[in-house]
Amino acid sequence: MIIFKTANELSNYLLKQKERGKKIGFVPTMGALHKGHISLVRQANTANDLCVCSIFINPTQFNNQNDFNLYPVTIEKDIEHLLENDCSVLFLPTLKEIYPKDYQAKHFELGRIEQLLEGQFRPGHFQGVCQVVDRLLEIIHPDNLYLGQKDYQQCMVVNRLLELTERKNEVALHMAPTVREESGLAMSSRNMRLNDGQLDKAKLIAKILFTIKENLPAATTIAELKNQASKQLEAAGFLVDYIEIVNAKTLESASDKNEPLIAIVAAYINEVRLIDNLLLN
Ligand code: AMP
Repeated sequence: MIIFKTANELSNYLLKQKERGKKIGFVPTMGALHKGHISLVRQANTANDLCVCSIFINPTQFNNQNDFNLYPVTIEKDIEHLLENDCSVLFLPTLKEIYPKDYQAKHFELGRIEQLLEGQFRPGHFQGVCQVVDRLLEIIHPDNLYLGQKDYQQCMVVNRLLELTERKNEVALHMAPTVREESGLAMSSRNMRLNDGQLDKAKLIAKILFTIKENLPAATTIAELKNQASKQLEAAGFLVDYIEIVNAKTLESASDKNEPLIAIVAAYINEVRLIDNLLLN
């Protein structure tokens, strides 16, 4: 595995690889890698000649300074995991490489998607995500981009970014399934901030999502299912940003059980904000 720390060196290297006809798969991450990230690396490796993984904790997508300061960093272990999984290239940039002095922050017209769910509770978050992804795509020019369903709305936002920046023909976006612990808990770097008791409690999030899926066919209304789920989370002591059952294509509220539906949740255990989702039909 080659580790690049500068954008120029990486771009030049990848350009040469592309000239040789090599296909590039790209997995952007913020590190503290777990099996969810590694599943993306494996997918990229299988379907491409080169797998490029980036580790960069992007400050512009954090709307909470404390969350940024406490974001886990496990770089040595991350490198080991990537080596074990035959990742070809690791991009480990400094802040200046991603946002050089002359970097002009762009604004992306994301439309409705930016106002819903995560957009509502994390103002500015998706602009930050778009800034970093746009910059990384400019440096890497991958053929295939791998994101996790764990961040479902982020996948939709990045899809919109590809449309806006006319990259749809250049790079194909692949959404990989959420990897879960045996307990059902969606793997997340932020889980590292939870103690055993909190990890035990966190399982309830996935349990509730799976219960919604199970109960959907028999439920009279979607609202009833949603309200039950919300009450359960609150009763267990979560601070709930949202738990919604929405149209999976638009993320707008849904009332018809035959629409494509997704149950989607963001809730805090103490200071740690966890998100998860489940496609229902
Ligand atoms: P992050 O490092 O949290 O920014 O995540 C980097 C990528 O890994 C994103 O595309 C995430 O959606 C994806 N990812 C995070 N957790 C999981 C998971 N449990 N299963 C699958 N993909 C994941």
